[in-house]
Amino acid sequence: MNVNNHPLKATQLSSQADAYDILFEPVEIGPVTARNRFYQVPHACGMGHLKPRAHAAMRAVKAQGGWAVVSTEETEIHPSSDLSPFAEQRIWDDHDIPALRLMVDAVHAQGALAAIELVHNGYHATNHYSRIPPLAPGEMSLNTNYPRQARAMDKQDIIGLRRWHMQAAKRAKKAGFDIVYVYAGHGMTLAQQFLIPRFNQRIDEYGGSLQNRSRLTRELLEETKDAIGDKCAIAFRFAVDELMGEDGMQAVEEGHEIVSLLAELPDLWDVNVSGWENDSLTTRFGLEEGYQVSYTKHVKSITSKPVVSVGCFSSPDKMAALVKGKVTDFIGAARPSIADPYLPEKIRDDRVDEIRECIGCNICVSSETLGIPIRCTQNPTMGEEWRRKWHPEIIRPRVSDRSTLVVGAGPAGLECALQLGRRGYHVMVAEASDEIGGRALHESRLHGLSAWRRVCDNRLYELNQKANVDIFRLSQLTANDIVDTDASAVFFATGAKWRRDGVGRSNRREIPGLENIIVHTPDDIMNGVNPGNLPVVIFDDEQGYMGGVIAEQFGATFSDVTIITSASVVSPFTIQTLEQERVQSSLIKKGVKIRTGEIVARAQDDAVETRCLFSGRRQLVACKILVLVTQRTSNNDLLSTIKEADFSSLRQHITHIEAIGDALAPGLIADAVFSGHLAAQNFEGDTREIEQALFRREIPAIPAD
Ligand code: ADP
Ligand code: SF4
Repeated sequence: MNVNNHPLKATQLSSQADAYDILFEPVEIGPVTARNRFYQVPHACGMGHLKPRAHAAMRAVKAQGGWAVVSTEETEIHPSSDLSPFAEQRIWDDHDIPALRLMVDAVHAQGALAAIELVHNGYHATNHYSRIPPLAPGEMSLNTNYPRQARAMDKQDIIGLRRWHMQAAKRAKKAGFDIVYVYAGHGMTLAQQFLIPRFNQRIDEYGGSLQNRSRLTRELLEETKDAIGDKCAIAFRFAVDELMGEDGMQAVEEGHEIVSLLAELPDLWDVNVSGWENDSLTTRFGLEEGYQVSYTKHVKSITSKPVVSVGCFSSPDKMAALVKGKVTDFIGAARPSIADPYLPEKIRDDRVDEIRECIGCNICVSSETLGIPIRCTQNPTMGEEWRRKWHPEIIRPRVSDRSTLVVGAGPAGLECALQLGRRGYHVMVAEASDEIGGRALHESRLHGLSAWRRVCDNRLYELNQKANVDIFRLSQLTANDIVDTDASAVFFATGAKWRRDGVGRSNRREIPGLENIIVHTPDDIMNGVNPGNLPVVIFDDEQGYMGGVIAEQFGATFSDVTIITSASVVSPFTIQTLEQERVQSSLIKKGVKIRTGEIVARAQDDAVETRCLFSGRRQLVACKILVLVTQRTSNNDLLSTIKEADFSSLRQHITHIEAIGDALAPGLIADAVFSGHLAAQNFEGDTREIEQALFRREIPAIPAD
């Protein structure tokens, strides 16, 4: 019996769809109306004013995917709020309007409202480009490591700031935006800095009482409304709690009081928690769907205006319950809209199982902090909408009836197979083990990384629906096996393994003496090897997340754990994902000994010898077990064999051979997924186009003389 045709199943489906109807009701926001309750809140994307075409195309895909409101990232209102070298939006003067209008028009064309988040960043902006001294409620050092200070704003500065904000709002209206934000959140904005006593110690009418500290925000809200409120809705983005207890703003104390004071001024409340590392908490450190609701749920009972809540929502049941329970009016999302721009459409069309769920890894955030266009582990098309013309749901059809073989079912192999399958090719996927998922699955077994298995779960689900895709488990292919298939195109997604000899960025040759000691690699730990309660040393020369994850895992169980890193902090890459402070804090709390700026130079019985990278000083550290997190080696023996001359006659029918993912060059899971996607997109493409135009670039137009 086909379960989809079963009458009970049909009833379930329609009643399920009815249950979600509430999510597709239109909602009025001041003078404008959102077509449903899905609201893409402002989020950074590393494109900003530098890549306006890419930005417009990315936001347009979200509007196409069903989001009723699509917002910009933060938009600097004045050169004294200059976040260079990071690429935010800018609305410094009328010259910025055309670039912003690109996004507005693209979003409107898909039936959504366009929102703009105006910001003055106060002491958070270093003003590297404009060189204007930063502004703040009082004289203070910046929260970057640049040794410059912000100067205290006087009354004239405050009047100036209000004027800039109003002028920016008028420009936003001119650009066509439907919703214009006043922004007090993420520890990044002047309005918020005036609200919080540790930043605002003024003794005039802008400091002291809460009434006084909220004066600037009130003025900004009122003046923005007066200036453009006839046509545009005014949204207020507000962090109700800083998650610092008594040391910061708390929802139950001043957070809710501020909502009461300003309750009816904006047309919409967009509420969250602060700073950014709390709002964009990762799954590694406790992110669960709806994790912010306990802080924000009272806002709706205080104001009659619509409320947007965020919390990495992807389950329609939870969303509908929140709306029915009058906790929120809109389902706000940044990361879920990045991982799956079509989330609303999939809910509306009863395709919930196809939703690509965010894994909470913050690789998207790292793009912003690195100053590069956005990318996403789950959605390889994110950021590629304009420059590579990729789309999360649409891919060009096959150009022949060739049969394809993907060897290895890790993130790269699965993504490649999925996209080849979507294109309509016959795809065989051979996986050596009985489990599908490769490193995404293996790494998901490590401390805090369980959500990472969603990378394989989602793809496997979709592959299983496809009649043109066959998956073979327990199929460790040899070169002979490969030539025996009828595949004429073979993609090698065979992954990589961690090195056991210590070669890495600091030791370009094998670490001497390793034969004297028990050595493990991350692969061993993922395979369940348990070092026991012996002195364990983790040598992290890779500087990604892996060394810190293993140290945390061991620190939770064992008493004598040391991490030695060649970096100056543990897991420096996690600064980009906003996790580093939590990583180091967790290790310290677990009693893990941390040695920075050192490498393991040699091993001997019961000890390793370290070398300080700065002074050259050598020391012995007790060690029975050494875990080497240094470098990986691609598994490309099979590929080499196939390419050997002996095979040339046997493999004449194989005209396309390509390594992808970690088998090509080890990197992040996001890199492997991207690599698999790229190979499937390019397969049987126009080689000239692929070689000459890897992607389109946004080059400033310079008029001819
Ligand atoms: P990536 O991140 O590039 O996707 P992974 O290491 O996650 O790489 O996945 C590689 C997958 O390839 C693993 O699941 C591994 O079992 C599989 N594999 C490696 N060699 C072979 C082979 N010869 N035949 C089939 N599968 C293989
Ligand atoms: Fe989610 Fe990671 Fe994608 Fe960001 S990069 S949207 S956290 S899956």
